[in-house]
Order: sequence, then structure tokens, then C-alpha cells
Amino acid sequence: MSIKNNLEKIYLKIPSKVTLVAVSKTKPLGDILEAYNSGQRIFGENKIQELVEKHGRLPKDIEWHMIGHVQRNKVKYMAPFVSLIHSIDSLKLIREVNKQGKINNRIINCLLQIKIATEQSKFGFTENEVFEFLNSEECKSLENIKIVGLMGMATFTSDQKIINQEFRLLKTFFDKVNTSKNQINILSMGMSDDYEIAIREGSTMIRLGSSIFGKRAYLKQE
Ligand SMILES: *Cc1c(COP(=O)(O)O)cnc(C)c1O
Repeated sequence: MSIKNNLEKIYLKIPSKVTLVAVSKTKPLGDILEAYNSGQRIFGENKIQELVEKHGRLPKDIEWHMIGHVQRNKVKYMAPFVSLIHSIDSLKLIREVNKQGKINNRIINCLLQIKIATEQSKFGFTENEVFEFLNSEECKSLENIKIVGLMGMATFTSDQKIINQEFRLLKTFFDKVNTSKNQINILSMGMSDDYEIAIREGSTMIRLGSSIFGKRAYLKQE
């Protein structure tokens, strides 16, 4: 199957209100261009260095999303162009993104990553931490970031019931946060193995890598 074929099949499967982020981490520029030439314009990377390099070498109308754990000292490299950061997982990181947004004279769109999985390895905020932050004076004072939604990753398991429960929990929480006071509209959940469940549970943005580009070589730091 070609990348073009894979994408066409996926486009037919997902409702129009769901946005597809093509996760191109570890994949070469040629693969990204093939997806681009099939109409895909939103790409996600999980390492800032790779994101910056690809951004520099590929068409300028690509929207680049950062989906992986962010090291604070590297935010400055992506701040001039990143269009959405999915993986905001600490207050310190929010402050740094705001600072770099200010330096670049832009407002950077961010999602708060919520810890829904039971796995130790997953990063993210708890529900209480999110409400505490959104209601804080500090949140109002951060003028160079905009919280536009939530992101979550389900436990890495083949047990569909667990995945389903975790996505449902995140959607319920999303609806609780999404009040007239905090208008958020993006719920980023679903990857190649679980995006159909995620869409059924109310995802508005899915992040697909291997189902578009094929399997990646095994990398420990994903
Ligand atoms: C790698 C990655 C994806 C895509 O994973 P696939 O299983 O290849 O679709 C999605 N989200 C995040 C945060 C990732 O790191």
C-alpha cells in the first residue's frame, strides 16, 4: 500500500469534523511530500529538533504540530512556527511557551495533556490540576498562549474495553471543561490502533502515524 492509498482510505473513514494529524516522526522528507501531494497539510512530530529541521525543508503551508514530550529548553526553536502543541504537561512548560510566544510576538495554541492511562510512563495533568490552572489569575495573565483543548493517550493495551473507558473519561472531562468561560474545541485522542474507538467516543482530532506511513523502526524514546 502506498502512502497516498492509505491516506485516501483514512479520509473516507473519518467524519469531516475530525481533523487528521499525520504523524511523520522518524519518516523521511519524501514520505511527507507524498502525503502532502495527496492533500495532507497537518503533520505531527514528537522531537523538536526533527520538527524544526523538517519545517525548514518542506513547503511553507504545512501546519506543524508538536505531539511529544517537550523539553523546556528547546521550546524556543519551534516557537516561531509551531501551530499547535498537543503535549503541555506542566505549569513550567506553559510559562516557557508563553515567554517564547511573547518573544516571537505570537499566540501559541496549546492542548493540555491529560493523564488518562494507568501507565506510569504517560505524562499529563490530573483533572483537579486543570481546573486549578484554568481558574487561576496566572492563566488569565498568560497572553501569548491559548488553551484550545485537551489531549490524551490511552493505555498501551489490546484490551479495547480499557481503551474505550479511558477515552470516555477524557470526553466527559472535556465536556466539563468546555464551558462558556473556557471555550475549548479540540479533543485530541486516537492513534493508529485506537482511532475508531476514539472517534466513536467524541474525538475531534486524531494522530495517525503507522497507518499512513507504515511501521516505524523501533525507537525506545517515543
Ligand atoms: C507516535 C505517536 C502517535 C502515532 O502513533 P501510531 O500508532 O503510529 O499512529 C500519536 N500520538 C503520539 C503522541 C505519538 O507519539
